[in-house]
Amino acid sequence: MRKQLVRLIELQKIESAAGRIHAKRKNLPVQMKILEEEFNLFCEFAETQREQMESVRKRRQEKDTQLQAGQETLKRTRERLFEVKKNKEYQSMLKEIEIFEGKNSRTEDEVIFLLDELEHLETALKAKEEERDIKRRRYEEERKKIEEEMNSLAGELDACVRKREELKKEIPAEVLRKYELIKGAGRGVAVVAVWKEVCDGCHMSVPPQLYNELQKTTALITCPNCNRIIYWENRNI
Ligand SMILES: [Zn+2]
Repeated sequence: MRKQLVRLIELQKIESAAGRIHAKRKNLPVQMKILEEEFNLFCEFAETQREQMESVRKRRQEKDTQLQAGQETLKRTRERLFEVKKNKEYQSMLKEIEIFEGKNSRTEDEVIFLLDELEHLETALKAKEEERDIKRRRYEEERKKIEEEMNSLAGELDACVRKREELKKEIPAEVLRKYELIKGAGRGVAVVAVWKEVCDGCHMSVPPQLYNELQKTTALITCPNCNRIIYWENRNI
């Protein structure tokens, strides 16, 4: 009977370990997704900033073209000034030149403003892109680590499954049935330790008499509260 208890304890330990590995494996893809989403969000943010800069650059080019056209018009008007004979016409042309000059000066101001803004945006974007490259490297490293861990966990799980099957062959069918039954009722845990009269499964006290018996016997005893198979574990050693 002692051997059976030892095997059941071992079986429970393997199954619990497999459960922990399962939980980890389930969680790793979630971690991976979070990392990916964080990185993508940052890339989107950098992309928005780049688009914003491109739009300012385009506006600056438009204003440049506008300024060139304005200067051309002004130049032509000034040339025409020499051909004008009548005073009234001359006066109105001077007025026209004044308007053109004002317009060009405002466009110039706008170009200067846009140049300033562009410079500022370019600097910010450069920093953002450098940060993105660092983040990309980190993200790829993390991803690789997670992938490696997934593979290693898969190997561990395989080992657990093999060990479990081997152990099961050594346990009588009747005992195994009891184990499975208790496991089903006990949320996946059938065998638990008891130390200082407290059951690890339900955290309740077992009667002192039972606790004494547990330290001596090799029989399969169950917890009066949670019905799991219990064994005495000496935690002083
Ligand atoms: Zn219990």
